[in-house]
Amino acid sequence: MKLYAVFGNPIAHSKSPYLHNFTFEKLGIDARYVRYKLEDVSKFRDLFFELGLSGANITVPFKEILFESCDEVVGIAQKIGAINTIVRRDGKLFGYNTDALGFYRNIEHDNVKTALIIGAGGSARAIAMILQECGINVSVINRSEKRLEFFRKNGFKCAEFEVFCEIFERESITNSVGNSKYDLIINATSSSINNELPLDSTILVELFDGAKIVFDLMYDKKCPFLELAKKYNGRNCNTKKHKIRVVDGANMLLYQAISASSIFLNKSYKIIEKAMSSAWR
Ligand code: NDP
Repeated sequence: MKLYAVFGNPIAHSKSPYLHNFTFEKLGIDARYVRYKLEDVSKFRDLFFELGLSGANITVPFKEILFESCDEVVGIAQKIGAINTIVRRDGKLFGYNTDALGFYRNIEHDNVKTALIIGAGGSARAIAMILQECGINVSVINRSEKRLEFFRKNGFKCAEFEVFCEIFERESITNSVGNSKYDLIINATSSSINNELPLDSTILVELFDGAKIVFDLMYDKKCPFLELAKKYNGRNCNTKKHKIRVVDGANMLLYQAISASSIFLNKSYKIIEKAMSSAWR
């Protein structure tokens, strides 16, 4: 039997074991997927081999640090500098990032030209890189400065929250017709886990004005960011019919898991999608 695991801390909330075990069962594959609370990140590689794992997913807060544990990093993960999927081949660890595609699949049919990412962690990197590859104009803001370095180096417009809020007070962040400058606003911070808003609600409400999509990576729980967007939904907008699409992270989780599973099992995305999609219903 092949064994897979998701590593994180905390990890008890993770739905990945459910999605992957559901898929193994559907496809008749002799494999099992478990959660592992990682206390000491320096032990990760030894642990991976001691447990006899064939592959793993990596979640908060290890996506950036465990990038270094891979022998080879494949595809867009190289640009992102963070991985969420590892597969073992011939005794070597290959790292991938499936969060990027997992996010993009949620908005691929919307006509998004501008995006604001709130947060600068591993998932923000993945989202920023895939949106940039798709020609979308991306700005990134974060509570603290350090993690913005990566985004500055990669040509994104960036600001710390404090600076962003000052600019916000000085100049309007709305465009000439009074709508938000951003079609897509993403909360990629972990604020929702603690039931908090990432930014002051007055600023958020103004940002939401005219936005097409408000997205929070959180899933499985009501979060204040999306609740605020729902409550606000297009109230001050010039276009009467305007409605914001409010999206949580459930499908991002599903789509990234489909990609991860197709890497684990070396099967096409379509086959895994067919098997895994009904897990959410
Ligand atoms: P990281 O730990 O890498 O980054 C966390 C980010 O959140 C940092 O930018 C941090 O700012 C910011 N932050 C934390 N708390 C607050 C707060 N109270 N207010 C404002 N900013 C805050 O996490 P990830 O990027 O890996 O994940 C972020 C979230 O996205 C997690 O909740 C995770 O569960 C979720 N996620 C969901 C996925 C899905 O498939 N639906 C996939 C990936 C992630 P600072 O730098 O100042 O510390």
